[in-house]
Amino acid sequence: MKILVAVKRVIDYNAKVRVKADNTDVDLNNTKMAINPFCEIAVEEAIRLKEAGSASEVIVVSIGPKACQEQIRTALALGADRGIQVETADYPESLNVAKLLAQVVRDEQPGLIIMGKQAIDSDNNQTGQMLSALLDMPQGTFASEVKLEGDKAQVTREVDGGLQTLSLNLPAIITTDLRLNEPRFASLPNIMKAKRKPLAVTSPETLGVELKQHSTLLKVTPPTERSAGILVNSVDELVEKLKNEAKVL
Ligand code: AMP
Repeated sequence: MKILVAVKRVIDYNAKVRVKADNTDVDLNNTKMAINPFCEIAVEEAIRLKEAGSASEVIVVSIGPKACQEQIRTALALGADRGIQVETADYPESLNVAKLLAQVVRDEQPGLIIMGKQAIDSDNNQTGQMLSALLDMPQGTFASEVKLEGDKAQVTREVDGGLQTLSLNLPAIITTDLRLNEPRFASLPNIMKAKRKPLAVTSPETLGVELKQHSTLLKVTPPTERSAGILVNSVDELVEKLKNEAKVL
C-alpha cells in the first residue's frame, strides 16, 4: 500500500513573524522556512507505518514555488521514498490545494493519505476535509493514534472533552494532531541519500486543475505591542493599582 503525505512549506515556528511595511502580507524575506509541524508529524506517521510493514511506499507532495522542494527533500531525508512538487507561483488557497491533491490521489491511488490538521501560516484547518469531500473518502481528523487493520484504519481523535475512536474504510484521509508522535531528526547520511531520491515536478495544467481565486487578502496587521510591566513593592500596592489604575477589581 502506498501512503501519500501532503507537506506545506511554512515559516519556521521559531521564527519571528514580520509584517510588510505596507501591510499587504507577512514578510518572508530572509525568514527561516520549514515543513509545517503538523505535516512533519504526518511524514513521521507514514514512515512508522512503512517500518511496521503496513506500507510499501511513502510519497510526499508539496504545492508551491520551487523553494518547497527543500521541504520535500527534508521529508525524503526523514525516510519518505519519493516526492512530487506541484509548481505554482504562490501558495494556493485550500480548495485549490485540495483539488490538486485530489488529482495526485487519482493518479497515484494511495491506500492512505496523511496530512497536517492545519498549516501554521494560514491556520485554515480545511484542506483535509475538502479533499475528503472531493474524493468522497472517509476522514479521520485530529488523529492522536492510528492503527491499520486489514482494509481499515482505526483512528483515535482528539475531540472536546476526550477521545473519539473511528474505524475508516481504506482508502481514507487522516489529519494529524500534535500528540500523534514525535518526529525524528534526519541523520547526515540520510540527508545525503535524500538528494538522490526521485522528485517529480508537475503543474496544475498537467494535472488538469484550473486554479480559482475565491478570496482576496486585504491586509495583514501585527498584534498591538504590549506595554512593559512594572514592579510593585507590596501586595497592598498591587491591589491599589489593580483597583484604581487598571480598574479590574
Ligand atoms: P490548511 O487547511 O491550509 O490549514 O492545511 C492543512 C494541511 O493541508 C497541511 O498540514 C498540509 O498537509 C496540507 N496542505 C495545505 N497547503 C498545502 C500545500 N501548499 N502543499 C502541500 N500540502 C498542503
